[in-house]
Amino acid sequence: MAKLLVPKPISGGLLLSYKCNSECKHCMYACSPKCRANWISLDDAGRVLTQLHAAFEHSYPARTSRLGLNFGLHFTGGEPFLNFRLLLSLVKIAHKIGFPSTFVETNCFWCSDDKETEEKLVQLKNAGLHGVLVSVNPFIFEYVPFEKTLRAINIGRKVFGENVMVYQDFFYQQFRSLKIKGTLSFQDYVHKAGVRSLRFVELIPMGRACYELGHLFVKRPAEAFVSESCLDELTRPWHVHVDNYCNYMTGYCGGISLGDARNLDQICQGIKLDDYPIIAMLTSDNGIGKLLQFSVDEYNYKELKDGYVSKCHLCLDMRKHIVEQTSEFRELKSEEFYRNI
Ligand code: SF4
Ligand code: SF4
Repeated sequence: MAKLLVPKPISGGLLLSYKCNSECKHCMYACSPKCRANWISLDDAGRVLTQLHAAFEHSYPARTSRLGLNFGLHFTGGEPFLNFRLLLSLVKIAHKIGFPSTFVETNCFWCSDDKETEEKLVQLKNAGLHGVLVSVNPFIFEYVPFEKTLRAINIGRKVFGENVMVYQDFFYQQFRSLKIKGTLSFQDYVHKAGVRSLRFVELIPMGRACYELGHLFVKRPAEAFVSESCLDELTRPWHVHVDNYCNYMTGYCGGISLGDARNLDQICQGIKLDDYPIIAMLTSDNGIGKLLQFSVDEYNYKELKDGYVSKCHLCLDMRKHIVEQTSEFRELKSEEFYRNI
């Protein structure tokens, strides 16, 4: 039986849940306030983190607390600070297991007050967290006042020193120089900052962006993507994600699960492609074309008249269409993702 060889991951994140205070137009994992607060259990998290640590360990050059977007373990979501108690417990578990580099990613919605912000960050640091990644971009800015972002960065630097990553620094500098306060709709941001600023957005045309920001991209017909395969993305070992249902996701491919991350060692022995027919198609030559044929023949998929911004847009639109009709494909998970995309 054919197997997909899945390499051991070298870095990645744990989604505490898909729930977020924001519903950013660019969110790759379709997070939203509408998502259920199905937080990962401590038992599942312990099992997943143990497996991730065993996998990551061979990639660490030395014991180090160096931070990097594609290095070590991060806690993410959804917005992890919506459940601070859980976040704190998970940091303690990760520290006990021995991850040398950990950070939490946040949109800073919770940073309303200096004292509370510092207390929470100090608690996390004392529990063993190494740093923070503060998200700054025009999409989050629709939901989170910039003052909160500034507070998180300033107090974060006091607590974690250099281990505060600002992603993306361009927008941090730009929002400061524009003396922006409060929130701003995306339309008003473009009006104020100029459309040329959008060149600096590291925008991956996947997930919700395909639908919400499609007007920013040139669209092409399905035919333009049919010769593409996703073998590289689906077997990419860096920056993998595990969601609160323990779905193991690679390549930023929200909604595609390579299996149960509590059994990551088994996944990394190869997954039987007969059990994952959609992954089998996507990882083969002309994979997108095969999925298109399958979607049309078996599920009466109709191509979008306006075309697609990327192969991921076509892939997602087909998967969404299939999930609306059947739950038979174990790789099309989580339901939460498809419900909110
Ligand atoms: S991009 Fe981040 S802040 Fe925005 S909806 Fe997704 S998880 Fe929430
Ligand atoms: S086309 Fe689908 S499988 Fe391929 S990289 Fe995009 S989302 Fe992932």
